[in-house]
Amino acid sequence: MTKKFRVFATCDIGEAIDLLRKRGYEVEVYPQPEAPPKSLIIAKVKTGIDGLITTLRDPIDAEVFEAGKGTLKAVAQIAVGFDNIKRADANRYKIPFTHTADVLTEATAEFAFFMMGTLARRMWTAEHLTRENQWGYWHPYLPFLGDEVTGKTVAVIGTGRIGLAFIKKCVGFDMNVLCYDPAYENHGFVKAVQEVNELRHGRGMTKELAWIRYVPFEEALRGADFVSVHVPLLRAAESATPTYHLFNETTLRQMKPTAYLVNTSRGPVVSEVALARALRENWIAGAALDVYEKEPLPMDSPLRDPEIADRCRLMPHFASAARITRLSTDPDKGMAGRCAQGLIDMLEGNYGGDITKMPYVVNKEAFAK
Ligand code: NAD
Repeated sequence: MTKKFRVFATCDIGEAIDLLRKRGYEVEVYPQPEAPPKSLIIAKVKTGIDGLITTLRDPIDAEVFEAGKGTLKAVAQIAVGFDNIKRADANRYKIPFTHTADVLTEATAEFAFFMMGTLARRMWTAEHLTRENQWGYWHPYLPFLGDEVTGKTVAVIGTGRIGLAFIKKCVGFDMNVLCYDPAYENHGFVKAVQEVNELRHGRGMTKELAWIRYVPFEEALRGADFVSVHVPLLRAAESATPTYHLFNETTLRQMKPTAYLVNTSRGPVVSEVALARALRENWIAGAALDVYEKEPLPMDSPLRDPEIADRCRLMPHFASAARITRLSTDPDKGMAGRCAQGLIDMLEGNYGGDITKMPYVVNKEAFAK
């Protein structure tokens, strides 16, 4: 029998909670679907809980760690992004935190790919035509046309887990790929894609031989028909190559006027004021967003302007929202399972209690001997 750990979860993560309870954990789950106020998280932490399960909606910083000084042992985040957790503060208080990388990679990448197609082929506008009984005739180009994805050039900004998975989908659509990543260039992956492209072309499956290469940021933006963003949110103090407002008036103007932007990374990576202007003034052809500077998207957001509705797709932070990906209790398949396992590792001292060996811990640097 393990020690009876006390855990507060800021949201329900499904059957994975039962996994913890079966091990004797006492788990309190915040019952509302919305995020709890920060003051409530602090109050719960002050009661001496051992572990905290968090989502990207919860600000976890020095105030929270201070409230748990001497008692809080671990934070398990159900998301791969952890920009809501102040890593420097976690390190100062020596609190390890985990995330759920890998298990949401393919789901997020395919959603980004579907958003790209939905946007370019104008599926939302086209369905409205049918539903609103405005579909009066078949005509070669009226009332509008969309753009093909097949054979086009896509810029992939950030070639980490999700960026590379997104490229795999693009390969099946004969796309050329411009890669940009200032910190991690995976040339082995690029070579493998080239080999696949050559094989498909050699076997007569594609008319043109598709290509892939790493290029500087501006070259990626200038050369692409589609730009898909797969970076973490990094503010100026956190990185030599921050991503906050990476897409702004200057960089949006570097894209082709016929190009489309897809963002499934984090909202603040794109300046929404600049993007709304870019869409209104046709600097770019369209954008599909899953994430926003403020979530949920405020009623007065410039992105809701009806004038740009036909070229601006707005998803409700939904890219990882698939059944197995979100809720499987298997840590190799689901975010919930991986979140629970991360907490178990930290609280029960798996891997000989060596936090640097625990696979889902993010801030290993704070525990290096
Ligand atoms: P990752 O860490 O594997 O990859 C991120 C890549 O971005 C890294 O290779 C990094 O070097 C690169 N990068 C850093 N700064 C950059 C910059 N200035 N320009 C270009 N590239 C830069 O992370 P991942 O698992 O691929 O996830 C990426 C992000 O996607 C997460 O941090 C999260 O914010 C977001 N995400 C969103 C959803 C969703 O539901 N919409 C789901 C999953 C992940």
